[in-house]
Amino acid sequence: MRHPKQAKQLVDRFGRTVDYVRISITDRCDFRCVYCMSEEMTFLPREQILSLEEIYLLAKCFTELGVGKIRITGGEPLIRRGAIGLLQKIGALPLLEELVMTTNGSQLATTATQLRQAQVARLNISLDTLDADKFKELTRTGNLETVLQGIEAAIAAGFKGIKINAVILKNRNHHEVTDLVQFALNSGIDISFIEEMPLGIISSHDRAEAYYSSDQIRADLAKHFHLEHISETTAGPSDYYRVQGRQTKIGFISPHSHNFCSTCNRVRLTTEGRLLLCLGNEHSVDLKAVMRAHPNDSDLIKQTLIDAMEIKPEKHEFDLSEQPIIMRHMNTTGG
Ligand code: SAM
Ligand code: SF4
Repeated sequence: MRHPKQAKQLVDRFGRTVDYVRISITDRCDFRCVYCMSEEMTFLPREQILSLEEIYLLAKCFTELGVGKIRITGGEPLIRRGAIGLLQKIGALPLLEELVMTTNGSQLATTATQLRQAQVARLNISLDTLDADKFKELTRTGNLETVLQGIEAAIAAGFKGIKINAVILKNRNHHEVTDLVQFALNSGIDISFIEEMPLGIISSHDRAEAYYSSDQIRADLAKHFHLEHISETTAGPSDYYRVQGRQTKIGFISPHSHNFCSTCNRVRLTTEGRLLLCLGNEHSVDLKAVMRAHPNDSDLIKQTLIDAMEIKPEKHEFDLSEQPIIMRHMNTTGG
């Protein structure tokens, strides 16, 4: 990571400093993962989404307010035309410390080297199963082999870090947690297990029934591996472990069983240009409206970002037993 170069100016009412932004550059995706989307999705018309220039200007403003880390996500970020060029420009921002990306891996076989050259330091790659049929079932349109080739290309391209993200659903892929950890160990990369979050209405399963907690996953893994807790505390929501004697980190992201809001350091920019102050609440500011009414007014954008900190909620309000209060799907949100 490059060294911090800018005073951190985004501080909320609870004294939390925001120095990390996740930007969703498209709501579109070549997959239809069952926990993320419904089978039939309507995507946003082009005029409603931020242009690449608008995204770049916002990224620049964030870095000038002390945001050191930007994650590009989606939808599938690599299917937006011009994505690589945008990454190159953001990667070259002088005040940025680290550019990272989350991807489903479908395009990595052909883009991994370009991404590394664009100064993308780390990748999170989603992989919920190592079974080709199950992969098709969970992603509806994805192909396991293509993603595995993408992961290989990413490893060869020499990123500073690669992490697998696996959403675990009871009776669908919960029995694969050991294989997934073994895959991460064999590949020399990290892995995080994610509890499903109730974002948007989905059709394929009942989220409460499919709930499989991080504690259950850890107990399953403990039958095969000697796990050691890593005491390092990052500002992120993951709780990390290591298999004794190995470098691979195993993270658990547990929005239901372990609340991680008190150390929250992040905000999200949705595809439509809404600044979302919390993943589990609707508090937001319409940055697109500000930018389109006052084009290229960086000072106004920065003041709007500073003012937005006033409405960052204290914590998320997820409850699996009720209908989702958050109607947006993860793909527009910047997961
Ligand atoms: N398409 C890219 C991908 O899949 O990695 C980036 C966007 S995707 C929305 C980002 C992450 O959110 C993925 O790791 C995905 O598994 C996760 N995700 C999507 N819907 C989720 C949900 N309802 N609960 C928890 N994680 C979810
Ligand atoms: Fe696409 Fe990622 Fe959502 Fe899957 S999780 S549908 S790959 S955006």
